[in-house]
Amino acid sequence: MSKGTLYIIAAPSGAGKTSLVAALVESTSHICVSVSHTTRAMRPGEVDGVNYHFTSVDEFKAMIEQDAFLEHAEVFGNYYGTSQAWVEEQLHQGKDVILEIDWQGAQQVRRLMPDAVSLFIIPPSKQALHERLVGRKTDDASIIEKRMNLAVNEMSHYGEFDYLIINDRFDDALFDLKAIVRAQRLAMPFQQAYRQALLRELLS
Ligand code: GDP
Ligand code: ADP
Ligand code: 5GP
Repeated sequence: MSKGTLYIIAAPSGAGKTSLVAALVESTSHICVSVSHTTRAMRPGEVDGVNYHFTSVDEFKAMIEQDAFLEHAEVFGNYYGTSQAWVEEQLHQGKDVILEIDWQGAQQVRRLMPDAVSLFIIPPSKQALHERLVGRKTDDASIIEKRMNLAVNEMSHYGEFDYLIINDRFDDALFDLKAIVRAQRLAMPFQQAYRQALLRELLS
């Protein structure tokens, strides 16, 4: 079985990363999203094991000790981490895996897995970012201000990524995201694996 591609997707909180990734996964075969572990409190509507694996700080620290994370980082005062075993299993099965992580995690994964493809998503303006954080209705005003301040820091890392997507009109940004995945799958090493039977038949 061929190995899938690992995608790293980062963005300032509220840029639309989660919505875009959900729409991509719904309309694309052979692709899945890593469910991170986090110590942050569950938001209304979130489900343990679906949006995140919600864990205590002690459990999280024990997982660090056990080397269970491919990467982990502290974001907005909470810990977030990606399960190494799960990601490796999916890639081994030939699935593409998406990590929705921050710039610190992206740096760690790039070092460990240099073949990973990384994408950065930005909003069309600071005002739009603020409106989206408010419109999402998941965080109170003080958390939104904190996230707005940290957005500039997150965005300052955009140049470390392979691709930049501007999420102005949602459908345009989704089209761009799909184009990147499609182009990657058309690259020769992947086509040689996926289209083995056809290539063998044509050359016989
Ligand atoms: P098809 O386009 O009608 O053959 O539909 P498939 O669902 O078989 O394939 C859709 C796309 O997924 C193809 O363009 C392939 O590039 C890609 N693909 C096929 N097999 C695999 C696989 O095992 N892993 C990954 N990551 N992509 C695959
Ligand atoms: P992130 O995962 O980057 O924090 P979300 O996917 O939660 O962001 O999106 C933040 C909010 O902005 C959500 O309420 C979402 O519906 C909205 N949103 C996402 N993309 C767009 C867009 N292109 N135009 C308007 N609103 C958007
Ligand atoms: P939220 O609390 O809004 O769900 O996520 C806040 C930020 O934490 C996200 O924008 C994302 O960049 C980051 N994040 C989520 N999961 C992970 C993870 O597993 N690892 C790292 N490094 N960052 C993560």
